Amino acid sequence: MYSKVYSAGLTGLEAQKILVEADVSGGLPSFQMVGLLASAVKEARERVRISLQNSGVVFPPKRITVNLSPADIRKDGSGFDLPIAISLTAAFGMIPISYTEQMAFAGELSLDGRIHGIHGALPIAIVARESGFSSVMLPAANVAEASFVEGIQVIGVHTLKEAIAFLRGEIAIPPAKGDWEKTRGKMQLPEVDFSEICGQKTAKKAAETAVAGAHNLLMIGAPGTGKTMLARAVAGIMPPLSRKEMLELTKIYSVAGQLDETMPVIVHRPFRAPHHSISPAAFSGGGSKVVPGEITLAQNGVLFLDELPEFSRTTLEMLRQPMEEGKIHLSRLGHSFEYPAKMMVIGAMNPCRCGFYPDMQKCRCTPAQVQSYLSRLSEPLLDRMDLCVEMEKGTFGLPETQEKEENSDQIRSRVLAARERQERRYLRESICYNSELDGKLMEKYCLLRKGEKLLWQELCEQLELSARGAKRLLRVARTLADLAEQEQIREEDLFEASLYKGISRKYWNPVPGGAQRR
Ligand SMILES: [Zn+2]
Repeated sequence: MYSKVYSAGLTGLEAQKILVEADVSGGLPSFQMVGLLASAVKEARERVRISLQNSGVVFPPKRITVNLSPADIRKDGSGFDLPIAISLTAAFGMIPISYTEQMAFAGELSLDGRIHGIHGALPIAIVARESGFSSVMLPAANVAEASFVEGIQVIGVHTLKEAIAFLRGEIAIPPAKGDWEKTRGKMQLPEVDFSEICGQKTAKKAAETAVAGAHNLLMIGAPGTGKTMLARAVAGIMPPLSRKEMLELTKIYSVAGQLDETMPVIVHRPFRAPHHSISPAAFSGGGSKVVPGEITLAQNGVLFLDELPEFSRTTLEMLRQPMEEGKIHLSRLGHSFEYPAKMMVIGAMNPCRCGFYPDMQKCRCTPAQVQSYLSRLSEPLLDRMDLCVEMEKGTFGLPETQEKEENSDQIRSRVLAARERQERRYLRESICYNSELDGKLMEKYCLLRKGEKLLWQELCEQLELSARGAKRLLRVARTLADLAEQEQIREEDLFEASLYKGISRKYWNPVPGGAQRR
């Protein structure tokens, strides 16, 4: 007898429909599997056979063939176990074939017949819906994340026995209904409120600006000046995620295998803070299954790199392409994958190894040592840091004035207003934030009046900015104008933006005299 069922396999972040056919015919008893299978899928043969036997399905002594198609797509992962087992059971005549053809299946089997969770259940549910299936059968562990997809019934199963009984009409399993929504209530509170940070006015404004326009931020300062605290506070002023962003992020975390029942859907902007000892592969993504790396896991959120110069050069250079294009290209076995990587980079660093440069009373480093420490950040990477701030020296937690510090709620409301301005402005464009402005769009939305244009050119010359640096300065000025609720970029916006850019000049290739106000 012949049967077919549908499943899906992952290629990068997307899933593709895969047909699983089983045929049982007379001849010498054998069990074969074909169809460009990776070793994990080849191993399914024994796993499925034993799992079926332990679930009460007897293998007939016949010639059994399983084929996975289309033949040109390499099938990887263990999610094909369940569809193979179901297809075989149908071919053995134990499940009505009409049932199995209307449903998609994915799940990993253990030898005792239990069904384990898989990576990428969300994109699999999406492709099943797009292919016109009315329901998808998945491991119970993946039901909550898959229920984020509207328009398809998600049936969760714990064991192969349960799956077969359901398909034989012996038991009923109610489809999951938006189980992910239960997690929405668990609002993850920011660890640090802005009001807990004393002083640091410039750094706070830079952080606010960075979040408002999704720019990159570099903080330089001695140990204990609150760089990490400020970075953590940033998480609390990020705007909420749209449903589209949630879906995109959940897909990434689904493929990375980082979702579970307590966190089936990503409802908050990610804040990733990898340690500087991270391997380049874990940072950029890769490995045998091309799992998304930290760069991609920070999508739509923050990638915080503390002790920036301590990261390996290879790791830091991997940031260049994503910081420019908002995506990262990876390749494996002749296939190339493109993962999204539209994140805000926040870097923090000491100005030298001892941490006290340019305070020559305290700094024990030679000028050569300072330069060698700073030069760990390449020019192109530094170029991509839109806002650069120096942290004020520690006030030992004591407020310098009686002035009450603004709290995160107040700052967030300005950030949200600036983001809404951008949203309205770019409604018909392909971008969302000022940091994405380029080419024609930049000309259109950063149109400068004559005086401002001259000032911009002058500032760029003074700071010896590259063409890229000049564009970045303009984007930041655009955001500063948005925060001030101005449609037109003003001289003061350009000047303020240049101060942030100028700090990096103070440490790297200092410009004599620095930028001065006209
Ligand atoms: Zn030093």
